[in-house]
Amino acid sequence: MQFQSTRDASHRVTLAAALRRGLAPDGGLYVPERLPPAEPERLAAARTMPELALHLLSPFAAGDVLESALASVTAEALDFPAPVTDIDQASTRLSVLELFHGPTAAFKDFGARFLAAALERLPRMKSERRTILVATSGDTGGAVAAAFHGRPWVQVVVLYPRGLVSARQRQQLACWGGNVRTLSVAGTFDDCQALVKGAFADPAIVQELGLSSANSINVGRLLPQMIYYAATSLALAKRDGGPPGFIIPTGNLGNALACIWARQMGMPIADIVLATNANRTVVDYVEGGEWQPRPSIATLASAMDVGNPSNLERLRWLDPDRAALRGHLDACAVSDAEIRETIGRDWREWGRAWCPHTATAAWVYRRLPAVRDGGRWVIVATAHPAKFEEIVEPLVGTTLPVPQSLAEILARPLFERQIAARPEELHEALLEHR
Ligand SMILES: *Cc1c(COP(=O)(O)O)cnc(C)c1O
Repeated sequence: MQFQSTRDASHRVTLAAALRRGLAPDGGLYVPERLPPAEPERLAAARTMPELALHLLSPFAAGDVLESALASVTAEALDFPAPVTDIDQASTRLSVLELFHGPTAAFKDFGARFLAAALERLPRMKSERRTILVATSGDTGGAVAAAFHGRPWVQVVVLYPRGLVSARQRQQLACWGGNVRTLSVAGTFDDCQALVKGAFADPAIVQELGLSSANSINVGRLLPQMIYYAATSLALAKRDGGPPGFIIPTGNLGNALACIWARQMGMPIADIVLATNANRTVVDYVEGGEWQPRPSIATLASAMDVGNPSNLERLRWLDPDRAALRGHLDACAVSDAEIRETIGRDWREWGRAWCPHTATAAWVYRRLPAVRDGGRWVIVATAHPAKFEEIVEPLVGTTLPVPQSLAEILARPLFERQIAARPEELHEALLEHR
């Protein structure tokens, strides 16, 4: 199996090279040259998530240096559960896929941990100088820092906008030390991203530090996200006698794209509905409009504040005419007021506390057209509500229990350095620990 650039089908590399590079040299994103049909029966026979992951992902590593290491990568990366729980009170059949049981209590742990475990097993990785530079609006940086912390072959530098992440997110970004350095930037997320892009555009810095990226453009974060859609759809289709539909909180389209790929590979998935916050670029596109990127708007579901989702390029590669997507892909935008209303109501009626991102999907569930009401739906819960307790607790009127992994992180001391949003300050910080 080879991976090609979305912009040039003749540029092809192996899985290992796609993971190493992140972005193709022509600025395109790496996609598998084809989506191999999976064997649902073989997958259904898997007893654990790492085993299922191995069956599902083997074709992508076929002929690659990672082929023989894949079993140990999946065993190491997927060592936490993704349980599916039913909401019994609902008048239709509704389940919740809980993707927040990893070390940083958000779904980004799946991709970050897989990427870290895979990169560690690449030849020469440990002898090369390597720095992973990541700008974050909240969850990505924490998941990447946690996944790469304690791996001596790599330095991780995380940039986040000071004062613009939740207190617990900040703790997840800045509690690591060792090979992880956290820079708190006086500026916005866009400033952080501009600093990172500037560093990647400077060949001297890229060369000197061996800069790599670990954001969701890396195909090594998308592939493992297919695993929980495969596991959930197979289990529910078997139990209920029909394929479930998924409602997915969506920002940069990475999580949803993994579901679309899993469906394309033959997993028993009915409709897919994307829930966005007020940043509705994807909604307008899916509803048949033009692709119209715009500046992002700040919302309560801040990890989804994306005005120009980069993974759309991958969606278009799959289906340039939208033909295969039509009929089973929908999208809906949700306002902050609707997020608040949903968190309060679903707590009272169902006893469920959602994070603000998950609340967009829960809101969309109640708005599904009647014609779709018959099937089973799965709300994809992307983060633990206790991570956003400043928003959620006043709405549910109670203190949320903190999961064990998050409690461990909250007990650690903070290590961070403050910088201004100026390239010279980033360069100085980067060169300091060479
Ligand atoms: C990143 C994130 C999202 C959005 O996922 P995309 O893959 O960017 O669409 C949704 N919810 C939470 C909690 C996140 O951290």
